[in-house]
Amino acid sequence: MIQKTLSIIKPDATERNLQGAILKMIQEAGLKITAMKMIHMTRTQARSFYAVHSDKPFFDSLTEFMCSGPVVVSVLEGENAISSYRQVMGATNPDKADPGTIRKTYALDIERNSVHGSDSPETAEVEISYFFSQLEMAG
Ligand code: ADP
Ligand code: MG
Repeated sequence: MIQKTLSIIKPDATERNLQGAILKMIQEAGLKITAMKMIHMTRTQARSFYAVHSDKPFFDSLTEFMCSGPVVVSVLEGENAISSYRQVMGATNPDKADPGTIRKTYALDIERNSVHGSDSPETAEVEISYFFSQLEMAG
């Protein structure tokens, strides 16, 4: 099944100039980039994006981190793109991520873990429309 998913290259990665390296791993996995932009979220935007985690102890720290620098948001498309991208990303905690994954290769810790990817078709749709208008979607 061809799906779309939302990817974010997080501030810890843009800070270290890793956008190109991470996009290369995404493309080498066969995922196609069909929309992309670099933005710097406000605190309000970061808190709204991660609202599902608002009751978690790490919510304030996570959202401060997510608005601490620029991010690259993109729409990825491909066969089973949602689970396929989550495999390329690796586990949330880089200590538990498989070798060769983005997080194992680049994440600094469980919070500053370099990338975000949607976790279901429903969240992918909500997250894509949070960042992109129809006009910005190439494919
Ligand atoms: P994922 O990004 O793998 O889907 P979650 O949705 O569970 O993971 O969490 C969202 C983000 O919150 C993580 O990517 C990470 O940046 C941060 N996070 C998750 N768990 C923790 C934690 N225990 N401590 C600090 N930050 C966390
Ligand atoms: Mg998640």
